[in-house]
Amino acid sequence: LGVFFHAYVDRSISYFTRMQLYNRRLEALASHDNLTGLLNGRAYYARCDQQVQVGERAGQSYAVLFVDLDHFKAINDTHGHEAGDAVLKMAAHTLQSHIRQSDLLGRIGGEEFSVFLPHTDHAGALALAETLRRKLEAARVDVGKQCLRVTASIGVASNQGRAMPMAELQKKADQAMYQAKKAGRNRVSSLPVAIAA
Ligand code: GH3
Ligand code: MG
Ligand code: MG
Repeated sequence: LGVFFHAYVDRSISYFTRMQLYNRRLEALASHDNLTGLLNGRAYYARCDQQVQVGERAGQSYAVLFVDLDHFKAINDTHGHEAGDAVLKMAAHTLQSHIRQSDLLGRIGGEEFSVFLPHTDHAGALALAETLRRKLEAARVDVGKQCLRVTASIGVASNQGRAMPMAELQKKADQAMYQAKKAGRNRVSSLPVAIAA
C-alpha cells in the first residue's frame, strides 16, 4: 500500500508542477506580443500603472518615451509584409538592448513602442530618447538581398514633480511624438516643461 501511496503522491506532484508550468506559459502568451516577444499593450500599461504608484509613493520622477517608426507603411509596400515584420523585430531588439532591466518596454501598436523609465527625470529621458533614436537609425536588417533601415520619431513626457497617471503621461508623449513627425521625423521632441510658479 505504501508503494502505491508514494506513486500516487509522485504523480500528483508532477501533475501539479506541470500545471504550474502550463499556467506560466499561458500567462506569458497572454502578456507578450507574438512577433517581437515584447510586452503587449495591456500588460505593459498594467505594469506601468504599478510603477507610477511606486514612483509617487517614493516621490520620484518617472518618464515615458513614445517611439513611432517613420514611414513604416512604405517598407511594407516596397519590400513586403515579411520584410516589415523583420524590421519590427530589429527595432524591438534595438530598443530592448539599450534600456535598463528596470525599464519597461511594450509594443503598444503596429509600429509603435512605449518605454517607461522609473526614477528618471526629464533631462535623463531626453538623453535616452536621443540614444535610442541614433541606435535605430544606425541599425540594419538583411532581408533577402536587401539591407533595410528605419528611423523613428520619439515623444518624451515626464511627471515633472507631480503625480501623473500613466494614461496622461502616455497622452503627452503621444502629442510630443506628433510634434516630432510634424517637424520632419527622425527626431526627439517633448512638450514645453511647465515652470513651477
Ligand atoms: P508615419 O511616419 O507618419 O508614422 O507613417 P507610417 O507609415 O509609419 O504610419 P502608418 O500609421 O500610416 O502605417 C503604419 C503601418 O504599420 C500600417 C500597417 O500595415 C503596418 N503594420 C502594423 N502592424 C504590422 C505588423 O505586425 N507587421 C507589418 N509588417 N506591418 C504592420
Ligand atoms: Mg503609428
Ligand atoms: Mg509610423
